[in-house]
Amino acid sequence: MHESDLKYFKELLLERKRQIRKNIEDAYVEMSGLNESEVSDELDHASISTDRMIEQAVSSQQNQELNEIEVALSKIANGTYGVCDMCEEEISIQRLKVKPHAKYCIVCREIIEKTKK
Ligand SMILES: [Zn+2]
Repeated sequence: MHESDLKYFKELLLERKRQIRKNIEDAYVEMSGLNESEVSDELDHASISTDRMIEQAVSSQQNQELNEIEVALSKIANGTYGVCDMCEEEISIQRLKVKPHAKYCIVCREIIEKTKK
């Protein structure tokens, strides 16, 4: 992969990282707002805990993506970025543009998806 491509993906990953961090922070701010609001009856309790479960699910998903971005950034640093973890072939630029923290090429991704089911 060219130096200019690596630079481009590094920017993309850093931008995505900023975005996720912001999303997580926003979720926390919203949650702490809920903590302060008055809870008058059982029904409110129920809806708040559902909201919180959703928030937690969202933030854990985003935390996972954050980890994957960190891994991709360290791969850029050590020169192994854009190589599939499974078959060690290069992942296509088109795919990386859609998902810059992709670990697998499209062929391996499909194999993994199939074995999951
Ligand atoms: Zn592969």
